[in-house]
Amino acid sequence: MQQHPVKNANSTIGILALQGAYEAHASTLAALGVTSRLIRTPDELFTSHGTPSIDGLIIPGGESTTMLKFLERNGFLDSLTTFVQTVPTFGTCAGAILLAKDVEHPAQTSLSALDITIERNAYGRQIDSAILTAPTQLPGDPLEMVFIRAPRITRTGPGVEILASREDFPVLVRQGHLLAATFHPELGHDPRVHQLFLEIVRTRS
Ligand code: GLN
Repeated sequence: MQQHPVKNANSTIGILALQGAYEAHASTLAALGVTSRLIRTPDELFTSHGTPSIDGLIIPGGESTTMLKFLERNGFLDSLTTFVQTVPTFGTCAGAILLAKDVEHPAQTSLSALDITIERNAYGRQIDSAILTAPTQLPGDPLEMVFIRAPRITRTGPGVEILASREDFPVLVRQGHLLAATFHPELGHDPRVHQLFLEIVRTRS
């Protein structure tokens, strides 16, 4: 990926590294000149004074059920639930499933932060993975999106902004300090979704 420096010189972004595509997010952030830190335990989220120890967090794609198994140990799920209420967090694919208020197909526990309903593995077996280009609300050209056994957002609450859609279903949404994509921007060559997240981090800190 080309270098695209952003104005987050002092920000440190955590990447939840329990399972899934966390390394690709680290590479995207490095190409943007941003420091990242892999997060594997609940005490890496907060300092001993209880303040967040990172400026933002990425929850990667992977398998949300597997991530939940890890999160259900050592009070990690409770710490992360508290963390995402106030600290900018970006969930991609399985990460979007974890952030959602309501998860279907099948239903499962979540961080219940982002006011959406999301249906897992929603595109069926034949077309469960695809690379598509679609218009977005982001500045610049349409966005290339890599979908891998993607979920589908079937409801968005009133505070949720839709930034891109696939066949009339939202695929990139924002609610204040929370951003979620049902695709994998870290696997493409376009840094604009990460740049948007870094802008959210910069304006909140
Ligand atoms: N199907 C996965 C899940 O339900 C998500 C797929 C992905 O993150 N690429 O968690």
